[in-house]
Amino acid sequence: MSHRSYQGRHTGRHRAQRRRVRPPRALSAGFVLPTTAAAALVVTATGASVAESSPLDSAGIDLTGKQSAMVRAQEAADEVVAAEIADRRQDAAMQSSAVQGRAEEKARAARAAKRKAAKEAKARAEAEKRAKKWVRPIKTWNVSSGFGWRWGKQHDGIDLAAPTGTPLYAMSKGTVLSAGYRPSFGNKVEILYWDGSISWYAHMSRIDVVAGQEIVADQQVGLVGNTGHSFGSHLHLEFQQTTQHDSPINPVPWLQSHGLW
Ligand SMILES: [Zn+2]
Repeated sequence: MSHRSYQGRHTGRHRAQRRRVRPPRALSAGFVLPTTAAAALVVTATGASVAESSPLDSAGIDLTGKQSAMVRAQEAADEVVAAEIADRRQDAAMQSSAVQGRAEEKARAARAAKRKAAKEAKARAEAEKRAKKWVRPIKTWNVSSGFGWRWGKQHDGIDLAAPTGTPLYAMSKGTVLSAGYRPSFGNKVEILYWDGSISWYAHMSRIDVVAGQEIVADQQVGLVGNTGHSFGSHLHLEFQQTTQHDSPINPVPWLQSHGLW
């Protein structure tokens, strides 16, 4: 069989024309396919067996084996890069989400701590206010004797008549200076209040506090009685200006100035 007859059976003219088609200059040996072009190839040919054999055949460009291999290698490399980029984006998103989550958690914790602190401060302020309010030593009283001269001598306090066993309360926040029995005063409690006032309760039937004890308003310190030099159950209430010496003051103005009279 001659060379010529072989060409004839293969519609020689047409095939010869196809073979004369040259790839564009950019596709000659050693070219680098731009990423966008490679991406387009991936899009059009991914998964198709056509892409394996001849990626550019449909475009009428006949690639050499070497060029096809280069295209496939470029595609593979681009897929790796794309996958890495996707991974990094996902990592960054997760990291960003985690950072945001931690920041939100931190902000929530800060808000909760602030609320808790404010609540505690408010509770402390209210407790302090309750502790520092002024209350009467006996809920209801009946003044049986006033401050001043009585029976030819000075009476240093006022007498508040009440049944034995009636609860006696601290008038405000303070410290117990002394608590114990005296021959004249009977059972006696001295209290130094937060504003410097000093009260004495005398003739008590029972003492419920000890010297040095911190007390608050409305705290029971003992019971009304008739102990010591006393005639009839009552509270002898006396106020002193100082602990240094005997310095009684009229309780009535003091009680008035503290809203208790
Ligand atoms: Zn008295």
